[in-house]
Amino acid sequence: MARSSCKLALKELKQWMMPQKVETSLATYPSSAEIVAEPLGVVLVISTWNFPFSLSLDPVIGAIAAGNAVVLKPSEIASATSSLLSRLVGEYMDKSAIIVVEGAVAETSALLEQKWDKIFFTGGARVGRIVMAAAAKNLTPVTLELGGKCPAVVDSNVNLQVTSRRIVAGKWVCNNGQACIGVDYIITTKELAPKLIATLVSVVEEIFGKDLMESKERSRIINSFHFKRLVNLLEEDKVSNKIVFGGQREESQLQIAPTILLDVPEDSMIMQEEIFGPLLPIITVERLEDSFAMINRKPKPLAAYLFSDDEQIKRKFVQNIYAGGMAINDTILQVTVPTLPFGGVGESGMGSYHGKFSFDAFSHKKAVLYRSFAGDSPTRYPPYTPGKKKQI
Ligand code: NAD
Repeated sequence: MARSSCKLALKELKQWMMPQKVETSLATYPSSAEIVAEPLGVVLVISTWNFPFSLSLDPVIGAIAAGNAVVLKPSEIASATSSLLSRLVGEYMDKSAIIVVEGAVAETSALLEQKWDKIFFTGGARVGRIVMAAAAKNLTPVTLELGGKCPAVVDSNVNLQVTSRRIVAGKWVCNNGQACIGVDYIITTKELAPKLIATLVSVVEEIFGKDLMESKERSRIINSFHFKRLVNLLEEDKVSNKIVFGGQREESQLQIAPTILLDVPEDSMIMQEEIFGPLLPIITVERLEDSFAMINRKPKPLAAYLFSDDEQIKRKFVQNIYAGGMAINDTILQVTVPTLPFGGVGESGMGSYHGKFSFDAFSHKKAVLYRSFAGDSPTRYPPYTPGKKKQI
């Protein structure tokens, strides 16, 4: 993804940089006006571990394209990628335009004490709040790319095989659930749930084999902290008897099998926290529309998915569900479309990037009005005598 973002920026940059001519008002006649993009200055990019290259380099591409200098702080949790990025950037890139600072909380906190012209943060909402509070001290603008619980709503009229394959891709194929726009939970009708579960299970076994713990096709859980966090979610009393598929785990391998749970209570931890792992709760409702209120009761997610063949339901979903982005009848792929902004809303973040949106995220839009010396109307100046109307 970083490679295609780079190619796109190289191809489109002249166009993106072009001042945008705009209409003027009668009060300024005669005049012309344009919006000029200017760099913000020196920007800090803090990234996370689950796609450590693209989540580090994608914002950097936007920042450099827009003319900024960048300090990149990759995640210490993907430590090998962090040191590789530091070495490669040092070796191949212009040090006056970009440097990498490696480190964890202490180093990031020290960076946050500096004055930046923009901070672009990818990570969880807890640290997002720390970043925003630090930025506020210097009135530094922020983009916060956070996460959340991304629902997938499945209607009864779908092509079950295709739906299941796309859900499996958006849950277990994509980093074994450790993806900010991965499917967090499913809502479907009571009528469809048994068939959906059976098809999901058959697709999982087709892709990963019957011995789920042996599969080499799925990522491991990133570390034992996250392994234990996920096991805790599974072992909560009101949840542990709701497992209908999977549930096997092996700490020494940092592996948890694809696991499906049916009708866990809404107040359980697994339905309150972002799962970020291979556990998939399925909640059933009488009518599909009941899912809308259920989703909107939770903080706004980074993505929401709907599988349906009903145009009315699709329209209602798009118009009524609050989310950073959506895909209808698929998962994840919205992130690959550079003409769509990628970002959250509410608890899932603020601001967006990708394609030209990355250039815009790191630019100030300067308003410029051009006037000549002609047309200097006397109505603009006092004294405002009777019969002389004040211009502005
Ligand atoms: P995190 O918030 O713990 O860490 C992100 C970055 O913040 C790291 O570089 C880390 O070093 C730094 N950090 C951690 N604690 C800090 C502190 N106390 N002070 C200052 N800096 C600190 O992120 P995580 O939990 O490891 O990542 C998972 C989260 O990221 C999930 O919520 C996921 O949804 C989200 N995410 C979002 C996107 C997106 O594009 N919107 C992409 C990937 C992940």
